[in-house]
Amino acid sequence: MPKYLAYHIVNARLICPEAGYRAGCDIVIRDGHIADILPAGSLRKDEPDVERIDARGGIVQPGFVNTHNHSPLTIVRGMVEDRGFAPAYTPGVPQGHWLSEDETLALARLGVLELLCAGSTTVVDYYRMPQALARAAEEIGVRAQVGGRVMDADTAALAEGRFVHDPALGEATLAAALDLVESWDGRGNGRISTILAPHAPDTCSREMLTRFAELAAKTGKQVHTHLAQSVMEVEQIREREGMSPVEFLEDTGLLNEDLVAAHCIYLPDEDIQRAGGAGIAVAHAPIGNAAFGAAAPIVALRDAGARITLCTDTKSADMFEAMRYALSAARSREAGKTGRASLALNAREVFGWATSAGAKALKGHGATGTLKVGDPADLVVLDADAPNLAPVIDGFGIVVHSGSGANVRTVFCDGECLLRDGRPTRVDASEVIATAQAVADRLWARAAA
Ligand SMILES: [Zn+2]
Repeated sequence: MPKYLAYHIVNARLICPEAGYRAGCDIVIRDGHIADILPAGSLRKDEPDVERIDARGGIVQPGFVNTHNHSPLTIVRGMVEDRGFAPAYTPGVPQGHWLSEDETLALARLGVLELLCAGSTTVVDYYRMPQALARAAEEIGVRAQVGGRVMDADTAALAEGRFVHDPALGEATLAAALDLVESWDGRGNGRISTILAPHAPDTCSREMLTRFAELAAKTGKQVHTHLAQSVMEVEQIREREGMSPVEFLEDTGLLNEDLVAAHCIYLPDEDIQRAGGAGIAVAHAPIGNAAFGAAAPIVALRDAGARITLCTDTKSADMFEAMRYALSAARSREAGKTGRASLALNAREVFGWATSAGAKALKGHGATGTLKVGDPADLVVLDADAPNLAPVIDGFGIVVHSGSGANVRTVFCDGECLLRDGRPTRVDASEVIATAQAVADRLWARAAA
């Protein structure tokens, strides 16, 4: 049972992608929802069974909806970005398949805790051993859409750009993914839901992707995957299937409104139109893309009809940074093509991608990414004393252009306070970090041996 029946967050500056900016608000949270929003000073100080949180003029915003992560990959964070391409393919670093269930859980707890501490209240997480990911999310308390990452390609051959079919790996990872769907939907007080997650066009056979299209049709679940993430992927699919990765997904029945595709970098104009016309959702990962020198054609995808959402993809978990990168990457890309940076994208729209657009694009969870009366209370109180968050004029500009994950002080999800004054309420942060560090020390020692 929660300690308090209700919370009053008083003296807040509210920003909501749909309702806009409002200074001087008191917010009532009751039974998991925003029960009321009143002018500051409306609420009595000594209400019984109510905990009062004074925002002291600080910004209160919706929790972020972070649409693409692989929390156990914290194991290679900071160590692969300068080696080129994705960690799943990089020799000489700890490999995902070395991780035991306990080690996966330890790393997932770190990854999910970090997401919470930086203000995400809804996260998408998929990897091997998805039960461990779901357990980590349930324990820390966020809303999570979890999936078992499925692939049926030999990873060693992939590192050399070759596709070698590995049906045994496919059956094993698919079985784990289906087990998760059977056992985890609706757990964690309804905060956990499941997704279908074939890894990528270049790591899945045509047969596997076709099976996912059938599964999606049967279960009504969304399919999350990586798409056009690397030149190597595009070349391999061209050689193997005689088409682009987007055409390959279309051909196998996956290119539709139930697809959430991460990255979407290497798309010729006709594929941008194809993907946009199909109404796919894009999990835009501007930080990770930039680390490999790439910027996705995100404005063109938006204009073609794709729904844009934002993610940190297990880089820093800082959605403020992701919002800023999204803006600057779009402008740099445009300037590289035309010589002039376009202002076709602004702070308020990007804030929407990180919150309400993400919530709308994902199926099967309770978040709205908005702060209106009646909405689920998924919200973040930012530090009123942070110099980088002052002065506040319209709210959106300062948060997007100057905010930081380190400004997150208090986080509610589903009306429950999961982070209070920077400290998680359900787990011991020091213990989570120390356990993950021990796992990393072991695996990196093994990689060096
Ligand atoms: Zn990914």
